[in-house]
Amino acid sequence: LSSQSDPYLKGLNAPQRQAVLTTEGPVLMLAGAGTGKTAALTARLAHLIASRRAWPSEVLAVTFTNKAAREMRHRVERMIGDAVEGMPWLGTFHSVAARMLRSHAELVGLKPNFSILDTDDQLRLLKQIINAANIDEKRWPARLLAGLIDKWKNRGWTPADLSLDESHAYADGRGQEMYRAYQDRLKTLNAADFGDLLLHMLVIFRTHREVLEGYQARFKYLMVDEYQDTNTSQYLWLRLLAQTRKNICVVGDDDQSIYSWRGAEVANILRFEKDFPGATVIRLEQNYRSTPHILGAASGMIANNGGRLGKTLWTEREAGEKVRVMGVWDGPEEARFVGERIEAHIAGGGRAEDCAILVRAQFQTREFEDRFISIGLPYRIVGGFRFYERAEIRDALAYLRVVAQPDDDLAFERIINTPKRGLGDKAVQKVHALARATGTGLLTAAARIVDSDELTPQARRSLGNLVADLARWRSNADTLPHPDLARLLLEESGYVAMLQADRSAEATGRLENLNEFARAMEEFENLSAFLDHVALVMDNDADDSASKVTILTIHAAKGLEFDTVFLAGWEEGVFPSQRSLDEGGNASLEEERRLAYVAITRARRQAWIMHAANRRIYGQWTSSIPSRFIAELPAEHVEVETSMSGGASLWRSQFSEQPDPFAHAGRGAGRGPGWQRASGGGFNRASGTRIIEAKASAVSLGSKGRDDVAVGDRVF
Ligand code: ATP
Ligand code: MG
Repeated sequence: LSSQSDPYLKGLNAPQRQAVLTTEGPVLMLAGAGTGKTAALTARLAHLIASRRAWPSEVLAVTFTNKAAREMRHRVERMIGDAVEGMPWLGTFHSVAARMLRSHAELVGLKPNFSILDTDDQLRLLKQIINAANIDEKRWPARLLAGLIDKWKNRGWTPADLSLDESHAYADGRGQEMYRAYQDRLKTLNAADFGDLLLHMLVIFRTHREVLEGYQARFKYLMVDEYQDTNTSQYLWLRLLAQTRKNICVVGDDDQSIYSWRGAEVANILRFEKDFPGATVIRLEQNYRSTPHILGAASGMIANNGGRLGKTLWTEREAGEKVRVMGVWDGPEEARFVGERIEAHIAGGGRAEDCAILVRAQFQTREFEDRFISIGLPYRIVGGFRFYERAEIRDALAYLRVVAQPDDDLAFERIINTPKRGLGDKAVQKVHALARATGTGLLTAAARIVDSDELTPQARRSLGNLVADLARWRSNADTLPHPDLARLLLEESGYVAMLQADRSAEATGRLENLNEFARAMEEFENLSAFLDHVALVMDNDADDSASKVTILTIHAAKGLEFDTVFLAGWEEGVFPSQRSLDEGGNASLEEERRLAYVAITRARRQAWIMHAANRRIYGQWTSSIPSRFIAELPAEHVEVETSMSGGASLWRSQFSEQPDPFAHAGRGAGRGPGWQRASGGGFNRASGTRIIEAKASAVSLGSKGRDDVAVGDRVF
């Protein structure tokens, strides 16, 4: 039915063709970055449909993001034109499972129109349940429970499946009870959370064989991209669906497994051959994406990980440029440098959309966003909110706006009960009513209502405290530098404490963002200049057609590629993250290294690895040590530059008030998630006599060379 001349086979190499044409039986495509795994999977989908082996509705293809699913659909349509009648089941695990669950919702006590809760809804619900159970939420935060429930669901466990040990992870053994109460509550609300989408289907498959058999009969072919990042419940779900026909093709790269913190099990890909005996294993070795230097740098670095399958990668592309390692003075200079490079690229006829900035942590985007706004360089943030649009930043801004401008009702509404201070909707409505009746702002009305007996004593006390706090902060505003004011009010309002009580990874990120927020303020003369700046930044979304630079986290960059990538903040404590260093142990460090591998291999032509000598972290200037991953890059693929003359030692002696760069080695260890109100921090920016643009190679990064890295990565 198909011939070598079919359009979707054009341009594929021999193993890729094999992956496309081996339609029957299990297939594992295990190959390194940029070797055309996704391309082959796409061609395979086109082939299955065009050769009429299956109707679109009989194929299930799972991608890691919705965007990847859309792209795959467009490509298939381009390959086979009108032949796509009907819709393949093409989407993320979540979207595919949601589509299935709509047809069988009643089997788990839901109606077909059930709603899907987001994280915020989920937390609100959990808080209610925790309070109703008389559990101290300060000790046992809702986020902790949310994280546990998520983990349990990722493993395919219903409340009944929990072990005693697991149950003990929350409120002295009440984990199971809370999980069950939450599931019951979801049922009454006719709602499901993300984890439920798959878990409910698993339960249905177990309890209603006929439903499972229906899908087993329907799906003639299954395909999964990024298989190395599947979690247990996804794995179980796939295995059930593939059980009878065994026409399942999965593709992945063990070196790119970067979601273990969300329950992904790289073991799933490693045991595929055991699960499906006789599987055809296809290895792709030719990389079509990157230049030899980029590949060589990435391969040399990842060779430092243990327990790898090991892969051969080669490319026919021209050597191109070496990976540039660029040392800069500090964060703002990093952003300035990258901005200049991109402007030069555009001036030379290049496109902004071919450039990307990859960061390890969300907070790192801020510096770039501010810089790009001020030079008018269009950018977009993928897979997250722009810095000033994030919830915690909007909250912090709202506090400052009320301090700066007491009539700012919108801002006041946002903070009146954030963090929770026991003001119910009723109390808030009364404030609104009084404001309307008297024609005043909300804050004025609040101050008045506190003196009346309209509110419950508890509401009166809380509101009274808030009004008094705001008045005090306003008077502080005259004396305190505005960044310190921000730190003070975030702390005194209980906002920081709220996040600190929360032990999730997400909360750490939010605290980092707040630190970065206070840091950002330092670049402005006063509070109102800063607030004006933010208002302008928020308004900068006008032209959607313009070619834009992409700023994204490495996690969000999986599967994507760009001509030029700037890898920002390769410093110990940023990347690898402080969290991974604090945890000690090899596992989290190896996951960071895989992230670094994903990061470098996004680049087609050019990769810049940036590291700054100074960062303001946790409210203090600290000298930074270049990331260990830089030292692991084979010297022959790297060119080291710095925008300063002299090396780190020179900077140290010039600015003796600078803390010893090694003093922060234990930074964060034993402390809560990063937050510190400490102001000052020795370095006086004005006194720095920096020599910029004087290229020097004095910074010795050291390289382990190629000899002590494991074999298995042959690179040309
Ligand atoms: P990752 O591991 O990062 O997800 P991948 O293995 O999925 O990478 P693809 O994204 O499919 O790789 O392909 C990388 C690049 O190589 C793409 O630009 C793709 O168009 C191109 N490519 C893939 N196969 C071929 C081929 N046979 N000939 C030429 N170019 C190819
Ligand atoms: Mg891919």
